Amino acid sequence: MSDCLFCKIAAGQIPATVVYQDDRLVAFKDVNPQAPMHVLVIPRRHISSLNDLTAQDDALVGEMIRRAASLAGEHGYGDRGYRTVYNCNADAGQTVFHVHLHVLAGRSLTWPPG
Ligand code: AMP
Ligand code: ZN
Repeated sequence: MSDCLFCKIAAGQIPATVVYQDDRLVAFKDVNPQAPMHVLVIPRRHISSLNDLTAQDDALVGEMIRRAASLAGEHGYGDRGYRTVYNCNADAGQTVFHVHLHVLAGRSLTWPPG
């Protein structure tokens, strides 16, 4: 989608600190980190929100989650723990309408979230 911030990051048109990329996924540091590690894992293909996923995306979503686990482990947080979050629409606070998986680690995270 031409006016989507995360599509532009995936295409390299807007700078980001990319920590992983392949044919289907890009992972980059959140510009406003909420923990010592705060990475966003996105699909290269534009999908607005979780509500727009189809059965064809099941493998893609699995790759996102497994990539989150790998990145947390590479950053040294596999054993200590980390949190993965998909926000969907207004009540969850979604602000960028391109599916992204937050990966947060490096501090004790409270539950329930605010
Ligand atoms: P959400 O509120 O779940 O939609 O999360 C959107 C996230 O994108 C927020 O944590 C923002 O800090 C982050 N963000 C917004 N713009 C950028 C950017 N240019 N580069 C990296 N992260 C960004
Ligand atoms: Zn997009």
